[in-house]
Amino acid sequence: MTQTEYKIYVDDIVRRVEFARLQVSDYHIVKTVAISKYSTSEEIEKLYNIGQRAFGENKVQDLKSKAETLEDLPLEWHFVGNLQKNKINNLLDRDPTLFHSLDSLELASELQKKLLAKNMTLDCLMQINSAKEDSKHGFMPEVALDAYIQISKECPNINLRGVMSIGAHSDNKEKVKQSFLTTHAIYKECPDATICSMGMSGDFELAIVCGSNMIRLGSILFNK
Ligand SMILES: *Cc1c(COP(=O)(O)O)cnc(C)c1O
Repeated sequence: MTQTEYKIYVDDIVRRVEFARLQVSDYHIVKTVAISKYSTSEEIEKLYNIGQRAFGENKVQDLKSKAETLEDLPLEWHFVGNLQKNKINNLLDRDPTLFHSLDSLELASELQKKLLAKNMTLDCLMQINSAKEDSKHGFMPEVALDAYIQISKECPNINLRGVMSIGAHSDNKEKVKQSFLTTHAIYKECPDATICSMGMSGDFELAIVCGSNMIRLGSILFNK
């Protein structure tokens, strides 16, 4: 694809996001984070050239190397993967814009210690395993709100900004919808939460209609 063809392709995705958000309200703004985990720095630059600024990775090493390669561009970097305790410092050294996948109390307390030691704060989302799948990380819906409040109280260097979830892994649209509604209901209860990160390439329109205001698009945006 030439740059012009790629822009036409991406414009179509932007229109789909626009159509979905207007079903919620004129005032419902949705931010798109381009998940670049399957993509090269050159491909990220192509998307940057047609206006995308927020990118996300799911491995600390990949975030580090791509952010370094593209250091001269005014990009913001998000981390959306499972964070192992021994990688926390490497992630903090990149000072990411938002960490989407705070998925346990143990991780929160470890992260708090490392943030304190570096005298920094980090904007985070709590990951919710809304469809209760064994294959997924995150807090179970029943305990999520209490955990959110507990982390807010006990971890002053963690700025909880909202929630993140991956839609149910299912061909049944109702099941996927239910998982998004579960996440959104918890989001509404969380004190001072402003970000509800849900929706990926296969289900972003449904996620938006269910109240998502941050979508994470990988394969569709990079045309993989
Ligand atoms: C890979 C990934 C995405 C993007 O997935 P696509 O289906 O390619 O859009 C979004 N969120 C997380 C947490 C991911 O790991």
